[in-house]
Amino acid sequence: MDDVRANLERVREQMARAARRAGRRPEDILLIGVSKTVPAERLRAALEGGLPALGENRVQEARDKVRALGRPVPWHLIGRLQTNKVTDALELFDVIQSVDRLPLAAELARRARRPVAVLVEVNLAGEPSKGGFAPAEVKPALDLLRTLPRLEVRGLMAVPPATADPEQARPWFRALRELRDAAGLPELSMGMSADFEVAIEEGATAIRVGTAIFGERGKAA
Ligand SMILES: *Cc1c(COP(=O)(O)O)cnc(C)c1O
Repeated sequence: MDDVRANLERVREQMARAARRAGRRPEDILLIGVSKTVPAERLRAALEGGLPALGENRVQEARDKVRALGRPVPWHLIGRLQTNKVTDALELFDVIQSVDRLPLAAELARRARRPVAVLVEVNLAGEPSKGGFAPAEVKPALDLLRTLPRLEVRGLMAVPPATADPEQARPWFRALRELRDAAGLPELSMGMSADFEVAIEEGATAIRVGTAIFGERGKAA
């Protein structure tokens, strides 16, 4: 598990350098460790190293890990949520980052027993394989979400198209920040292992990092 601790330390240093380049404070950026396919012992090593949040794509996988680890830090749902799993998701997760369609938002509002923090997912490049609102749909969606009880919309989230060079992600990150600014929201979840430094330079308030902390995932991921 020493590799996890060393990786975590390196990611933190890279975060701090990227923040300084952008004139930002490193403590204003939340590092979310993405735990999909990662065994609980490796997650525990990262938590012991001070990882402040966990992110999981699937409800069932989160359930197994919450059983093993409890909830020592907030859990963020970052993958597509089926409407029939909303009650389970509300029980397991502190933040639902992947609100990608209006019926899901309505179901979350209907099932929530307490205020629930959510991010609205944006499909920046209109990729058919990904969920999320088109950029032009974001404002009308937010107007509607604000009328729903118990939903606390904190910001926007996106997974831009994969690129070979992290610099190519910069225009996408900038586009998401502009949408967020126009909406007057605080949070901006963007940047993964390959490009989180660019995302921080462009204003990310939360980055979602799996491989750079836990190592390569199996093909099944
Ligand atoms: C898997 C995943 C990540 C982390 O990806 P890495 O490249 O391993 O850092 C971040 N966000 C989402 C939505 C993911 O599915």
